[in-house]
Amino acid sequence: MEFLSPGTLEEALAAKSAHPEAVPIMGGTDVMVELNFDLHRPSALLDLSRVSELAECGTDGPHVRLGAGASYTSVIERLGGRAPALAQAARTVASPQIRNRGTVGGNLGGASPAGDAHPPLLATGAVIELASERGVRRVAAREFYFGPRRTARQDDELITAVLLPEPAGPQHFSKIGTRNAMVIAVASFCLAFDAAIRTVGTGIGSAGPTPLRAAEAEEFLAAELDWEGRRPLSGAAVRRFGELVASAAQPIDDVRGSAGYRRHALAVMARRTLGWAMAEYQKGETRCA
Ligand SMILES: Cc1cc2nc3c(=O)[nH]c(=O)nc-3n(C[C@H](O)[C@H](O)[C@H](O)COP(=O)(O)OP(=O)(O)OC[C@H]3O[C@@H](n4cnc5c(N)ncnc54)[C@H](O)[C@@H]3O)c2cc1C
Repeated sequence: MEFLSPGTLEEALAAKSAHPEAVPIMGGTDVMVELNFDLHRPSALLDLSRVSELAECGTDGPHVRLGAGASYTSVIERLGGRAPALAQAARTVASPQIRNRGTVGGNLGGASPAGDAHPPLLATGAVIELASERGVRRVAAREFYFGPRRTARQDDELITAVLLPEPAGPQHFSKIGTRNAMVIAVASFCLAFDAAIRTVGTGIGSAGPTPLRAAEAEEFLAAELDWEGRRPLSGAAVRRFGELVASAAQPIDDVRGSAGYRRHALAVMARRTLGWAMAEYQKGETRCA
């Protein structure tokens, strides 16, 4: 197996162009598991861990820019105020050791429907930056996931960054697993309000062939919310929101849970995150970095 170890982004893109079959490896917390279990034997690995450009976090116009190689730990430590839902999701990933190695870029590269970064990226309207020697392009997270573990990324492209809008309202993430840590989601859900443009975003994890949005639920809630007066929602509206989220899922029965349980859990998480978001919105809390 060839091991390619570029030191800069330019070298990494050149290597990916010359070896499109090379499997990128960042934190290795997915790739190494697959190699150890002999699930794949790629002809080449493209190690991105020395490419410092990929680990950078900063600001890009109206967006928070998160390098694809930034670890979950750095998301938690640096972006709790500017990307609250993603930071909440990052806190639920595995254990400190995995959070120190694992990255949002790796979550996107693997594109498991159970990946914890996906619901926040969908709900908050994040954008994924892809680069190759042909140039750089940006794809909305909502158009990134094509099918089971298939994404908009081409073979010669690397994921270089995630761009997140600055929060303009409450964001909450919830995950159900068989225990509190070191666990892949049985189902997960994220809700984000954008009070500036009066829209609602959602993201569903682990309950479909790809991470999903609940578009009907988003429209329903945006119309029901009293954006100006911040009055509480009726019980019927909260229940309806939960039902619409559950009906947007496309779950299957598998070892982690049944389709019926996943739909039930999503309705519960939708109502619960809505309760947290409303409480925060009514207090008029604004987050800052
Ligand atoms: C014990 C354990 C517990 C875990 N728990 C969780 C959990 O709770 N929640 C969760 O979501 N995940 C969990 N995972 C999975 C894993 O940690 C995450 O998916 C993590 O985000 C992967 O990041 P990484 O940098 O280690 O990716 P890697 O393993 O390096 O790569 C993962 C995939 O992305 C591709 N890739 C990596 N970087 C790029 C790039 N820049 N451009 C293009 N493709 C790229 C790789 O080729 C590969 O296909 C767990 C894993 C382990 C081993």
